[in-house]
Amino acid sequence: MEYDYDLYVIGAGSGGVRASRMAASYGARVAVAESTYLGGTCVNVGCVPKKLFVYGSHFHEDFDDATAYGWQVRADGFDWATLRDNKTAEIERLNGIYGNLLSGAGVELHEGRATLVDPHTVSINGETHTAKYILVATGSWPTVPEFPGREHVITSNEAFYLDAFPERAVVVGGGYIAVEFAGIFAGLGAATTLIYRGPLFLRGFDDSVREVVREELLKKHIELRFETTVEGIELDGDTRVLTLSDGQTLEGDTVLYATGRHPNTADLGLEAAGVALGAKHEILVDDHYRTNVENIYAIGDVTDRMQLTPVAIEEGMCIANNLFTDRPERHLDYHNVATAVFCQPNIGTVGLTEAQAVEAHGGDLDIYESSFKPMKHTLTGRDEKTYMKMIVRRSDDVVLGIHMVGPDAGEIIQGMAVAMVAGATKAQFDATVGIHPTAAEELVTLREVSREA
Ligand code: FAD
Ligand code: NDP
Repeated sequence: MEYDYDLYVIGAGSGGVRASRMAASYGARVAVAESTYLGGTCVNVGCVPKKLFVYGSHFHEDFDDATAYGWQVRADGFDWATLRDNKTAEIERLNGIYGNLLSGAGVELHEGRATLVDPHTVSINGETHTAKYILVATGSWPTVPEFPGREHVITSNEAFYLDAFPERAVVVGGGYIAVEFAGIFAGLGAATTLIYRGPLFLRGFDDSVREVVREELLKKHIELRFETTVEGIELDGDTRVLTLSDGQTLEGDTVLYATGRHPNTADLGLEAAGVALGAKHEILVDDHYRTNVENIYAIGDVTDRMQLTPVAIEEGMCIANNLFTDRPERHLDYHNVATAVFCQPNIGTVGLTEAQAVEAHGGDLDIYESSFKPMKHTLTGRDEKTYMKMIVRRSDDVVLGIHMVGPDAGEIIQGMAVAMVAGATKAQFDATVGIHPTAAEELVTLREVSREA
């Protein structure tokens, strides 16, 4: 049977754009549907605007620190509208670039919300299109739990477009978005409280990293309320009054819920096409991103594996390669995927946490640690620590994990990930000559084992 397209992609976000462009470059006839914004979450309400806000929020400290270096700096206050609108202009520029990338690659863009009609047919804007292969790359959406007053909170989506910057910000959650936005709000001048339901936030990260981040956020006067949940929220004028599980109340002008994201699979026609979902309504795929329906694939957040842009992009590259070239099958190795949390200072991490390493290789581990004041702060006197940990399997000297908290940890850990993907040993780190004076050189001069595990 002749189809309208070789590949129909639903969702022009990180994964969908890359899969479409690459497939078209291999000669496939490709269309992509986008309901909301070109570039998806990352470009519009994710990585990019978030990082711009992180930059914006750090100036406050930079101005203070500058005086120790002889600069007489007077900051005349912060104008939220300038940051917000400059950010939005940059996002709109990127939207245009994404449009050009797609048209330049020969991909047809269908603006609208697409649904599946059957395994080979997509419906959009009242029209139907057939395709040999369909790729679902519809991403994810913030989850706000049910509780009285949930209509008074915002999610990260709205945080990027606030009319007014809050004097008092409350962030609920203890994952990536919560700690990043707590830093943004505090850095831009809001009295900030972070509420997390468990004993220590950033569950899943190395425990030492979690402790160090706790200490660093406290130094920035972010109030941390752990083992606390929100029972309800009421409005008093414009003020949100939160009733907490410990019986106390807390007032805020903005309450940001960062309590995870769920896959965008509702009302997508997946049932009509026979696509199986998992317990969290994620699309279930095999190692080749194939669903239980032979010609339907899914990548990125909608599969709820690793919600990271570079992962969605790489999965998109794999799909295009595997469906439309004769080159060897490609698939992503999810081990040693490095990640950064852009709290302040940053977390950079790759490989096993100490707890994971102990579980897998306990008794055969050397743990190297270093904690020091960043050189910049020897003059400023700012009480900030950089922390590094390297986990090494003693029996074969292989480095299993590297974790860091400190300025530019996200930048530094990328190179470490290359070494780990290459299977680097501690001896090879030791044989690497450092770059002086940098923080990163510490990772090639970790001489003493801090402890065995
Ligand atoms: P998306 O990029 O979300 O794209 C899905 C697209 O599908 C969207 O454009 C959506 O409008 C469209 N769509 C949905 N349904 C339909 C439909 N029925 N028809 C047509 N179109 C549809 N990751 C990082 O690696 N680094 C970071 O620093 C980082 N920061 C983040 C900060 C925040 C605040 C958030 C929320 C996320 C962040 N992420 C970050 C995660 C990253 O944004 C996602 O992992 C990534 O965007 C997932 O890509 P995707 O292609 O799966 O989905
Ligand atoms: P995360 O899954 O990282 O964190 C969710 C947090 O909310 C956890 O602390 C969780 O607690 C808590 N939580 C979940 N449900 C509830 C509830 N009902 N009540 C109270 N607390 C709750 O999600 P995020 O929303 O922070 O971010 C989504 C994903 O986007 C991230 O996992 C990440 O993959 C990606 N992202 C990546 C970034 C980056 O690369 N820098 C930046 C931002 C997002 P508990 O731990 O107890 O379950």
